[in-house]
Amino acid sequence: MADFGYKIQEDRQINYDSNDRTLFYFLKRVEPSISLCIGCGTCSATCTAGQFTQFDLHKIMLYVRRGEKVHIANEIKKCMLCGKCSLACPKGVNTRNIIFQTRKFLYSNK
Ligand code: SF4
Ligand code: SF4
Repeated sequence: MADFGYKIQEDRQINYDSNDRTLFYFLKRVEPSISLCIGCGTCSATCTAGQFTQFDLHKIMLYVRRGEKVHIANEIKKCMLCGKCSLACPKGVNTRNIIFQTRKFLYSNK
């Protein structure tokens, strides 16, 4: 009962100026199809990993654009690189390569 009633919500403001968007610019160079993403969520709905875990590729795409690398690094390992999301994407975004290149970027820049 301690949490019952109204309370002040956590701050959900995103400070884009302090975020590091180098990953997004890197992906735009190596996989330009990332710019075609319309955030429809089809990739998440069909994701194999998403059926067994909380993994959500749609959110990853958003984090990449925002430059929120901490969230991405925590989540990206759950992907099995099966490629089903690439087949399902209505905009033809090569999501599998985006994940592959993201891993390369994150692990070679540590
Ligand atoms: S299915 Fe394609 S267009 Fe839709 S959110 Fe995923 S990557 Fe973006
Ligand atoms: S490649 Fe990764 S993100 Fe895409 S459907 Fe397979 S497990 Fe999900």
